Amino acid sequence: MDIQAWRATPFFTDAQRAMAQAFEDWVCGALLPALAGRGIALDDPASHTAQAMEQDCRLIARLLGQGGWLDSLADSAVFSVRSLVLQREVLARYAPLADFVFAMQALGAASVLHGGSAAQQAQYLPQIVSGEVLCAFALSESAAGSDAAALTCQARPQPDGFVVQGEKCWISHGQHADVCILFARSAETPKPQHGISAFVVERHLSPWRVCEEFTMLAPHPLARIAWDGVGLPAAALLGAPQRGYALALQVLQALRSSVAAAALGMARAALQRAIGHAKQRSMYGGVLADQAVCAATLAQQAASLDGAGLLCARAAWLYDCQPQDAALAQAVAQAKWQATEHAQQIIDRAQQVFGAAAMCDGHPLARLYREVRALRIYEGASEVQQHIVARSVLQQGV
Ligand SMILES: Cc1cc2nc3c(=O)[nH]c(=O)nc-3n(C[C@H](O)[C@H](O)[C@H](O)COP(=O)(O)OP(=O)(O)OC[C@H]3O[C@@H](n4cnc5c(N)ncnc54)[C@H](O)[C@@H]3O)c2cc1C
Repeated sequence: MDIQAWRATPFFTDAQRAMAQAFEDWVCGALLPALAGRGIALDDPASHTAQAMEQDCRLIARLLGQGGWLDSLADSAVFSVRSLVLQREVLARYAPLADFVFAMQALGAASVLHGGSAAQQAQYLPQIVSGEVLCAFALSESAAGSDAAALTCQARPQPDGFVVQGEKCWISHGQHADVCILFARSAETPKPQHGISAFVVERHLSPWRVCEEFTMLAPHPLARIAWDGVGLPAAALLGAPQRGYALALQVLQALRSSVAAAALGMARAALQRAIGHAKQRSMYGGVLADQAVCAATLAQQAASLDGAGLLCARAAWLYDCQPQDAALAQAVAQAKWQATEHAQQIIDRAQQVFGAAAMCDGHPLARLYREVRALRIYEGASEVQQHIVARSVLQQGV
């Protein structure tokens, strides 16, 4: 199933298919040319530098904003997980860093859209979807990742707001975000998840300290950050007090199918290259694709890609069209788990088809191999998704 056939599945509407094609045309015709020479596109031979990271992320956010491609994130009447899935598939296929920037704006916008008051939505959503501000989403801590309910960062209630004390770890855009969705403990409760509140924090009002910047396997701005007794105005509270954990789960549930889509985009980019290579690589008097074992490998990877693509499209469709369906959590978990795990294998097999060339730093497949790895960990590791699926099938059968 090629990309058009995937989009043609009944899970998407004609309007969504048209949007996806227009977005792909814009990515190829406007975004990539604007980013050329910065090492962001997979085919760009320049290597990305850590120093340029903030500039590049801001440029990508602004271009996406100016193109109007983030607008649907700000309007609950048009917000659609299927649109997110279609857009992230395209971005990840051409430029994973651009996909990352898009995903962070989506996390920020979804938090404000789902949890924010009308005043917060009016204040923050236009800034986020114009790409004027960069968003961070600070849930994880060094000792509370998969078990996020165990977080210890404190937001102590005061007569006029809160005082924040504590650290957050593995925070994307942590070193240069302007707005941070913060999850912190505002009450001690018998069940730890019931004591967590969410906040929308403006850096210039309640600044955080950057404790550590991480150098990741693939270009990705990631930091450990801290607030040392910093005041937060009462207006920063996002949603009801102590409903922050539920909000985090709600936002992650909305975005998780789009992580699957990003994995699909990377896998498709790799498999397309492997097929092209196998058809032209001279070998044994013919080409590599003539070898039955190679052809079987390509067939296996294509079948994996299709399976994962269908799971992803179905999960997004369920979220948009049947949000009360008891099968939603399992569908979303399956999509994220299967798509990210299969994508890693597909990229690995594509490298095998290329041989030594794909071992070179800077080769698009070497870049994809590194890029795809984190997707199996963030927004719920594969084993966490597996746990959700197991719980569902043990309760409801198959
Ligand atoms: C590139 C990147 C970007 C990130 N960006 C952000 C961000 O912007 N904001 C944010 O809050 N966090 C972010 N994270 C953190 C991410 O969400 C956590 O890494 C993730 O939740 C896992 O937590 P951990 O790393 O502490 O691993 P742990 O929670 O220690 O888990 C380690 C491993 O234990 C296994 N495991 C976990 N649970 C189970 C289970 N139930 N059953 C069996 N095995 C299990 C899994 O194999 C897992 O990988 C990011 C991480 C990465 C890599």
